[in-house]
Amino acid sequence: MKHSGLAFDKKTEAFLYFLEKEGIITLSNPLETEQLPAEYIEQYKRQLYFLLDILRSPRKVHEVQKKIFDAKIAIFGLGAVGSGILQQLCMMGFRQFVLIDYACVEENDIARTPYSIAFQINEPKIKAAKALIEELAFNPVVQVHNETLKTQTDLGELVGGVSLIVNTADEPYVGYTNIKLSRHALQHNVPLVAAGGFDAHLASLGELLVPNVTPCADCYATFFHESLKDWKPIPHPVTEREGWFGGLSSLSTFSASTSALEILFYFMNQDDQQVVSGGRGEFLFHDYSLDSYTVERDENCQSCGEGHK
Ligand SMILES: [Zn+2]
Repeated sequence: MKHSGLAFDKKTEAFLYFLEKEGIITLSNPLETEQLPAEYIEQYKRQLYFLLDILRSPRKVHEVQKKIFDAKIAIFGLGAVGSGILQQLCMMGFRQFVLIDYACVEENDIARTPYSIAFQINEPKIKAAKALIEELAFNPVVQVHNETLKTQTDLGELVGGVSLIVNTADEPYVGYTNIKLSRHALQHNVPLVAAGGFDAHLASLGELLVPNVTPCADCYATFFHESLKDWKPIPHPVTEREGWFGGLSSLSTFSASTSALEILFYFMNQDDQQVVSGGRGEFLFHDYSLDSYTVERDENCQSCGEGHK
C-alpha cells in the first residue's frame, strides 16, 4: 500500500482497506480518469459523487459515466413528460439525442415544460428541445425529426444505432406507439422506456422494456386484454376533454423523474440484467397512495415468447 511518504503498520493498513471497501474513504482522487474530458468531469462532479456513494468504486463510476457520455437516446414526444425526461437526462450527463415530435410550442406549455417559452411560441417543439439540450448538455449532438409516428414509419431510418428509446408520444394512442417501438426494439436488442403520465393517468410510473429480460409491449397488451375483459368504465365527470386533459406540472415531473431514474439504473446495471418481471404503478393524487401491480412475461407472446426466439 503506497501513501505518499507515510508508513503504516499492518493493522492501520487493514483498517484503511476496510474503510475504502465500505466506501467511507477513498485513497486517491475518485474523479481522476483518462476516460472522460476534464471539463465534463467538472460539470458533472456531483453526479459522479452520487454514483460513487452507490457503486463504491471509482472504476465502476467512470465506466458507467462513460457509457452515459457515449449513449445516444431517442425520445418520441416532447410534451410535459418527454421534455422533463430530456432535461433530467442532460443533467445526468447524457449528450447525444434523436428527437421526434410534430407539434409546436403553445402558450399553455409555460406551465408544463422547461422550454424558454417567451421566445418559442409556435416554434416546433423539436427546436425548443434542441435549445434546451444546448443550454444544459456537454458538447451536445442532436438530430431532430419533425414528424409523427405512423404505422408505415421506417424506424430503422429514424432511430438506427441508438442505445435506448423513450416513448412519451400519446398520439395516435400510447398503446399502439409502444407496440410499434417495442417490436423494433426487440429486433434490434435496444431497451425501450414506455414512459408514464398521459390522459387520465397523470402521475403513472413508466416501464422499462429490456429485450428478452422484461415483458415486452405485446406482453403488456395481452395482460390488459385479459385482466380488463370484464371491466366497465365509469362515466368521467368531465365529458368534453378531447385532447386537452392536462395535468399539474408536478404530476408530470413525477412521471418524468421516475423514468429518468429508471434509465440511470439501467446504465448502472447494463451488464448485469437479470430476468425481471415488469409492472405498472400510479401515484394517486387524491390520497397520496401508490397503486401498483406486476406483469409477467407471456411465454406465448407473439413477439418475445419462447416460440419466437
Ligand atoms: Zn412479449
